[in-house]
Amino acid sequence: MKTRQAVLVKPRRFEIQQADVALGEGQILVETAGCGLCTYELNHWAGRLGTPPMALGHEGYGVVVEVGPGTTGRVKAGDRVTGLCGKCFSDYFTMPERHVMLIRPDLDQQHVPGEPLYCVHNVVRAAHPEIGDCLAIVGCGPMGLWSLQALASPTLAAVVAVDVDDEKLDLAKLYGATHSINPGKCDAVEAMKEITAGRLADVVVEATGAAAGMETAIHLLRPRRPRLVVCSSFEGPIQLNVPALLAKAVDVLHAHPGICMDREDGCRRTETLINHGVFRTDRLISHRFPLEDVQKAFETFENRGKGYLKGIVTR
Ligand SMILES: [Zn+2]
Repeated sequence: MKTRQAVLVKPRRFEIQQADVALGEGQILVETAGCGLCTYELNHWAGRLGTPPMALGHEGYGVVVEVGPGTTGRVKAGDRVTGLCGKCFSDYFTMPERHVMLIRPDLDQQHVPGEPLYCVHNVVRAAHPEIGDCLAIVGCGPMGLWSLQALASPTLAAVVAVDVDDEKLDLAKLYGATHSINPGKCDAVEAMKEITAGRLADVVVEATGAAAGMETAIHLLRPRRPRLVVCSSFEGPIQLNVPALLAKAVDVLHAHPGICMDREDGCRRTETLINHGVFRTDRLISHRFPLEDVQKAFETFENRGKGYLKGIVTR
């Protein structure tokens, strides 16, 4: 069958084209409800990654139209799904059944982009804070806030949200942050010392994608093998404060999909978080664009300012 598909034909230029979608062995066909815009794709958009023409969009979700030969029966036509997919800035896309996350029909969230939530599941597993730990989330964009939603727990001594935007800190408090620090307004390390009686954070999730955020994250960690989980996408190489990492013997972990050795298992675990209502996704969608406005969606994303959290392209 044919589908409209957004294709990046050269840096900073999308075209809506007609493309064929064929249902292969073990695949399912999805009618797109929406697809999130990912910071990682700004690399493709700006000509830093890949060679155009490229069909983008890997945060798709929608409803199953048809299942292909060799599928197991786990996923059926009519199911709400998301998963690890590609070419999802489109009316229809295919993905392997084994990478499907089934969304329960009565889930109260309309927009469920599976891939970033899968990355957050990696963050949660990498962070695994212990009872009485102080957890800090540096950067309260969608990745930081979803990580917060999944990690905030009364078993923790403190859950500290860190961002230079007070509005994002307010959202973080809504999702379980017990404290907030705005490094633009105070000395973040001093503030963290005050919260933790001088101990500093045991686990820090870095979700800013900026060198300054990484530097702050490192300074907020306590010494003696704390954990730093990096979940953001950087525009390019950054300078890393290796002496500080060494001095504190920091375990640095990354939450990119590649760290999960068994993606099928990762999808199953992410499905649990989604269907238990851990993620409040709808509230984080700040910008919506119909497929034909994908060009505008990326221009807005690249020049995003205050108030931008997560953009999606809908069918
Ligand atoms: Zn993504």
